[in-house]
Amino acid sequence: MNETTYHKELSKCVRCGACKSLCPTYLTTLNETMGARGRVAMLGELEEDRLSPTKGLAEKIFSCMLCGACKNLCPTGIDIQEVIYQGRARLKKSFGRGLLLRTALKYSASRMDPAFSILRGLQSVFYGPLFNAGLLPYIPEIAARPFNNSSQVYKNIKKIGRMAIFAGCSVNYFYPYLGKALSNILLKKGYEVVVFKGESCCGAPLRSAGLEQEALSLAKKNTEHFRKVRAEAIISMCPTCTSVIRGQYPLLTGDTIPNFLDVNEFIVKYGIAEGLETGPEVVTYHDPCHLNYGLGTRKEPRQILKGIRGVEFVEMQNADECCGFAGFFSLYFKGISKSLGRKKMDSIINSKAGTVVTSCPGCIMQLESLKIETDAKVDVRHIVEIIDEAMGAGVK
Ligand code: SF4
Ligand code: SF4
Repeated sequence: MNETTYHKELSKCVRCGACKSLCPTYLTTLNETMGARGRVAMLGELEEDRLSPTKGLAEKIFSCMLCGACKNLCPTGIDIQEVIYQGRARLKKSFGRGLLLRTALKYSASRMDPAFSILRGLQSVFYGPLFNAGLLPYIPEIAARPFNNSSQVYKNIKKIGRMAIFAGCSVNYFYPYLGKALSNILLKKGYEVVVFKGESCCGAPLRSAGLEQEALSLAKKNTEHFRKVRAEAIISMCPTCTSVIRGQYPLLTGDTIPNFLDVNEFIVKYGIAEGLETGPEVVTYHDPCHLNYGLGTRKEPRQILKGIRGVEFVEMQNADECCGFAGFFSLYFKGISKSLGRKKMDSIINSKAGTVVTSCPGCIMQLESLKIETDAKVDVRHIVEIIDEAMGAGVK
């Protein structure tokens, strides 16, 4: 978004407040400056030099969860998330708490393997005692090897088609077994599977930290890379990666990646889960914000789960409310993150399901953390694990 468009977007606000109605940070705090309308208004005032770029103002702009719940609510069509990204780029130096993160992201974003290898070493020595002392939040164990340790094509005798997997950082470094589950599913169905080493971080963490130029450079690298991958579809298990790559890359680079699919869209479109059986198991489903608001994918995961014989699906209350993760938000704004998380955990427990299924590695991280904190007796699983198990493999 260039300077002129940014100004134009901000000036379109008529202060109606429609965007606040689903805003989780506003609904948790009931503070106007912690809501969508307040943020748009403050950024407008900043542009007109009626507000200064103070630390306090930066806190309000960086406290947006970038969940997208305000998307499509604005009658004048302001793209609020994009406006927030632009605001962060302008205010990043005023957000005191972000310096360490920005430095780490700048160093690591194009060198993820060595960065996670260093983090793994630190985690094995320091994490346990610091977590037990309550000084660090729950962080899953970093895998010894990333999912896409090397570029490979898994051949298939049936070869009914060729699909590529975009792992994304969370599957690569925290949950490689999810990548393995998706490979199993594809191979069992008769597809050749491309796992490619050359992917870069989608850029979401960089944009959320206000690093627009750095995110643009990753977007260009990925776009170039996707052009070279010969596959019918590129499938992702992380809706944040999918919504950034499909929804934001066109704004950043001008290129579209039409065959980039969320795994739920893929499973339904290609009839992958038809005729499966598992369980018996009572499951409920949590909607990840970027899948629900970002991609509008709400009915597909339910259709998949309800279609598996042996699965009893129960809808939890407020399934589409944010779990409170939102990446680095959960570190900087712990109070709101925990409050949203506890509410979500209550809904899961009240549903009486033994398993909560979701479609986002970030939500899994948050729900696992809440499970430890509340000692809840519920399994937390990604939808690919359920399908993989129903197909008779089950990698975990
Ligand atoms: S993206 Fe989410 S947290 Fe941010 S202003 Fe919109 S609704 Fe509120
Ligand atoms: S919905 Fe749009 S016009 Fe209304 S307050 Fe929010 S940003 Fe402004």
